[in-house]
Amino acid sequence: MFLPKPRLLTFHALCAAALVLGACTSDDAGVDDAGDGDGDSESTDGTATSDGTGETGEELSEIPALGIQISAVEANQGTAVFIGSEGEWVDAAARLGPLISNRNTLIRVHFTVDPGWVPREIQAQLKITRSDGTTKTFADTRMVAADSVPNTLTGGFYFGLVAEDGDVEAGTQFQVTLEEVDEASRDLAVGAGLLEGTWQTPREPGDLGIQPEPLQLKVVFVPFHHKFGSIDRITDTSEATIKLLTDAIYETNPTHELIWSVHEPMTWEYEMNSLGAVMGPMSALRENEQAFPNEYWAGLFPVPNGGVAGVAGIASVPGDGKGEGAQRVSVTALGNNPGGAANTVVHELGHTQGLAHVFCPFAEAASPDPAYPYQNGVIGQWGFGILSFQLYSPESFYDYMTYCGPSWVSTWSWDRNFYRIRTLTSWEGMSVGGEDQKLILIGSLASDGSEFWWTVRGSLPTQASPFGGTPQQLEFHAKGELISTRPSVVHVLNDFSTTWVMTELPESLERLEGIDTIVRVDSNQQAHPIAAQSVTLSARPLTITAN
Ligand SMILES: [Zn+2]
Repeated sequence: MFLPKPRLLTFHALCAAALVLGACTSDDAGVDDAGDGDGDSESTDGTATSDGTGETGEELSEIPALGIQISAVEANQGTAVFIGSEGEWVDAAARLGPLISNRNTLIRVHFTVDPGWVPREIQAQLKITRSDGTTKTFADTRMVAADSVPNTLTGGFYFGLVAEDGDVEAGTQFQVTLEEVDEASRDLAVGAGLLEGTWQTPREPGDLGIQPEPLQLKVVFVPFHHKFGSIDRITDTSEATIKLLTDAIYETNPTHELIWSVHEPMTWEYEMNSLGAVMGPMSALRENEQAFPNEYWAGLFPVPNGGVAGVAGIASVPGDGKGEGAQRVSVTALGNNPGGAANTVVHELGHTQGLAHVFCPFAEAASPDPAYPYQNGVIGQWGFGILSFQLYSPESFYDYMTYCGPSWVSTWSWDRNFYRIRTLTSWEGMSVGGEDQKLILIGSLASDGSEFWWTVRGSLPTQASPFGGTPQQLEFHAKGELISTRPSVVHVLNDFSTTWVMTELPESLERLEGIDTIVRVDSNQQAHPIAAQSVTLSARPLTITAN
């Protein structure tokens, strides 16, 4: 059913990235992994390897810089996580979010200079020690005229840790130092009365704090073929468009890998009045293709102007249960502005990862999360795109769960998605059965009055939706006789135009045998009958295993 084989998107920072990041290692300079640059000619295996140069081939100086203070050391894989502050190591409890393994990482060194500063070249060094004891020293030498500024990479010192070089792994220690480039430079500083300050952070090497867990995000893009009246459109799934989507997802989510595929187009032969109407059929399809519960199905519906009734995208907001796979679906209107749609896909994927909205003042979104820490929904910390090498200002960008733009990921959303991705990745290689494969009947009620009912193997939601709804009763009738009455859980999808009514079916109702009518009794005691034979029944076996 899948068009191309699932493809793997990882960060391969080769020469181009190394050039931009300046301080990445090159192949010939990278041989000397044990060269720690301190000139002691000792590597971990006792052989002499160090020649006093860093990974970038720069001569390593060993003269503590005078009159300059490291204010903070930032590690950034998408959003700033401070790992050093005022000379001290920042421990896990004080960190804004997690750093993950095997993901390219920008390290920035912010500093201030003392009064009477003499502009001159300063060499910053980043020394890392891996858990196997091997070390690497990176150097970045630049002219320092004043305090660092955070809005450009070259406004301070920076280094690039490259995942595929093994530089971003759990157990890695780090230390940053600032050095005078030579004795003459030091003499100049001494002559100006500059004193030794916070030239190293932390004072002793500290843990970089890389999380060891594998982290994968699995996304299945589902294009649509819309055939209705004179409309005959298929979603644009060109390489360029999909790249916009995958880059946006990868840059803004704490994952090592984004594993994605493009499904065959689903045919839609109805008028499109509500994006939410396609969610049920998509969920039923993922059920019957036995999608594993850690896959996110992201529908892409072709709409030239990029919205339906003012809605650009819609998603369910499931919990982290293994039985909640049926709810890991979203749909985005993909029109003439795929860049805009990429932001929407990221937002909807945020919902399916359990995120509620974030408030911002210019475009109020429903049920914002009151715990969001930054006023007006701004990201609050520097963002960084590990593919684009762009920086995103803390005060001018809004969290992607707001309705305001421009948007980027905040440390808040980054942190929450980390736990969700970690949980879903931990299911790899496991089976799903038992409590997570109960029979659930779902009715999707779209704003245009259309309904779609299907059954899935799964479980009822493990947590309340931020867009909760009043429970409704479901009655099962056979030949005019009421056989069973079931309570339901009601979730309203994020645009408030589509409601999902979910109930667990007893074994006796598994195939709805003998049932001719299901009556939904809403909170106003209004009865809404549907024919039981219109329900799409799950064809999923009782146990499935991740592939
Ligand atoms: Zn939303």
